[in-house]
Amino acid sequence: MLWPFIVPGGGVWVGWLNRPAILRAPRPDPRGSGLFRVGVFRSGVRMGTAYLVGAGPGDPKLITRRGAELLRRADVVLHDALVDYGLLELANPSAEMIDVGRRAGEARLFNQGRINRLLIDLTRRHAIVVRLKGGDPLVFGRGGEEALALALAGVPFEIVPGVTAGVGALACAGIPLTHRGLSTSVVFVTAHDREDPESEQEWRHLAGMGGTVVIYMGGGRIREVTERLIRLGRSPDALAAVVESGTLPHQRVVEAKLGELAERAGVMTGPALIVIGEVTRLREHLEWFERGPLTGRSVLVARARSQRSRVAHSLRELGASMIQYPTIRQLPGPDASSVPAAVRGLDGSGVIVFTGAAAVSGFLRALARGGLDARALVGLSLAAVGRETIAALRRARLQCDLPIRSYLPIQVAAALRRGKGYLDDQPVLLIRDGGARSALGDGLEGAGTRVTQLQVATRTVDARGRKNAERMMAAGQLDAIVLPSSSAAEALIEGGLVVPPGVLVVAMGPSTAATAERLGLPAAVVPDTSGVDALVEALVARLTIPSAIDHSVGASLTSASLD
Ligand code: SAH
Repeated sequence: MLWPFIVPGGGVWVGWLNRPAILRAPRPDPRGSGLFRVGVFRSGVRMGTAYLVGAGPGDPKLITRRGAELLRRADVVLHDALVDYGLLELANPSAEMIDVGRRAGEARLFNQGRINRLLIDLTRRHAIVVRLKGGDPLVFGRGGEEALALALAGVPFEIVPGVTAGVGALACAGIPLTHRGLSTSVVFVTAHDREDPESEQEWRHLAGMGGTVVIYMGGGRIREVTERLIRLGRSPDALAAVVESGTLPHQRVVEAKLGELAERAGVMTGPALIVIGEVTRLREHLEWFERGPLTGRSVLVARARSQRSRVAHSLRELGASMIQYPTIRQLPGPDASSVPAAVRGLDGSGVIVFTGAAAVSGFLRALARGGLDARALVGLSLAAVGRETIAALRRARLQCDLPIRSYLPIQVAAALRRGKGYLDDQPVLLIRDGGARSALGDGLEGAGTRVTQLQVATRTVDARGRKNAERMMAAGQLDAIVLPSSSAAEALIEGGLVVPPGVLVVAMGPSTAATAERLGLPAAVVPDTSGVDALVEALVARLTIPSAIDHSVGASLTSASLD
C-alpha cells in the first residue's frame, strides 16, 4: 500500500507502508510553489519521476501549462542546446540544469546512451527530473527511446506532449496543414534516414502522394531532398515552402516550386522544415506573423529588478524578441527580521518611507513573518519614492499618503518636509531594498530626524542566461541592448556579460548613459526626453531605418520587409 509521509522540509513522500523509511527531505522551494513533492520508493529504493516534457516549437510561450509547472518544480532539468532560454528561466533557481546537447567542437558530449543512463540515475536520486525536448518529445526527438530506457529500468515516467514544429511553425507561417479542397492528409517525415535502403521505397511512396508533406531535419539538405523527390516522380512544379526558425522572431519563410526551392531558400542557419503541398498557396492570404515594426529584431533589456519590465513589454508588443538579462532574484535583506519590532516601536505615529518596489514586498513579507498585517500600520503615514514604488504600494492595496516621483535625496527630503510636515517631529522608518547605505537616510539623520533604516530585501544576480546572450551576439542575432536605468547597466556588467563592440546600446537618459560609459558600454542612442515611450520610440526609429542597420544574419532577413 502507498502511504504519504509529511517530512520536515515541507514535502510529502509516498512510500510502501512496510518500509516507512524517509531518506531525504526535499529541498524547500524558494518560490513557494511545488510545496508537495511526491517521490516513490520501492523496496527501499527511493525514486522520483522522470518527465519527458515537450518544449514546443521555439517560442517559449508555446509550452503547455503542465510543462511549465513541471519546469518550475524540477530538481534537475536536462535540456537540448536549442531550447529557448526564456523557458529555462522558468526553472527553479536551485534546480540543476544540464545541457545534454553540448558539443566539444563537432563531437556531442552526451550520446543517446549516456543521456538515457543519466536520466535513470538522476531519477533515482531526485523527486522531479525534467527532460525538456524541443517540439513534442515523441516526434523525431528520440523521446521514445528515452521512455523505453526508463520503462526497462523500472523508473516511473510521465510524457507531457508539446506542440511539434510541423504544427507550430506552419501555423506561424500561415500554412494550414489540411484544408478542405486542397489537402486531407498530412505526413511528417524525417530527411535524416536518407542512407537507409528501406527508406528509398518509402520516399518513392511519398513522392507519389497527394496531401501535405512536412519534412523535418532537411534544412541542411534541401537540394538533396527536393531532387530525390523529383527523381522519384514528384512534379518539379509542386508547390513548396521552407519554414526556418518557425514561431521565433527571426522566422523566415520561403515559398517556391519544388524544383526551385533549394535555390530560393539559400543557406539555412536555424532549424527548418520543408513543406510540400497545395496548402502552401494559402500563405498568401494567411500570413500574419511578421507584422510589428520590430518583427525579426532581438533586443536584450538589462534588468536590475525582478519585476516585469515595461520596456520589455512595449518592445515585445511591437514584435521584437526579448531577452532580459540578468535574472534578478529578491531575497530577504539583513534587517528583515527587525521589521515587526520596528513597526511596533513606532506605536502608531510616524512615517514609513519605501525606496523601492522590492522594499514594499520585502517589508510586507517580513511583517507577515512576524505575525503582523495591515492593522499594525494604523496611524502611520506611508511615503513612496519613485513610480515603481508607488505602484507597488497600490498593488499591495495600501494607500500612499505621499507619492514622491524624484529619486534625488535632496528632493525626497524636501518633499517629506513639505508633505504634512512629516519630518518635524515624527520618527521615520526608511525601508530599503538596495545594498548600499542610503544617502537619503544619512541626509535625514544629519538634519536631526529620527531615522531607522532597514534593508528588507537584497538582490542576487543570476547570470545563467549569459551564454545564451553571448551566443546570440556572436551569431549577429542581437540587434540592440537597452539599458533602462543605471542600476540595470550595473547588473548587466555584474552578470559578467561581455558585449562585443558594434552592438547598438540604447540608454534611458543621460545619467544612465554616463554610467554605461563608465562601465565600458558607450550608448549610441539616448532619447532627448525621459520615459519608456521615448526610449521605445528612439529604438524603433533606429532599428527601422534600413541604412542604420548593421546587417547581421537575422537582421538582413527582415530588412526587405521593412523597406
Ligand atoms: N521533437 C521535435 C523535432 C526534433 S527534430 C518536434 O516535435 O518538433 C529537429 C527538427 O525539427 C529540425 O531539424 C527541424 O526540421 C524541425 N524544427 C524544430 N524546431 C523548428 C522550428 N522552430 N522551425 C522549423 N523547424 C523546426
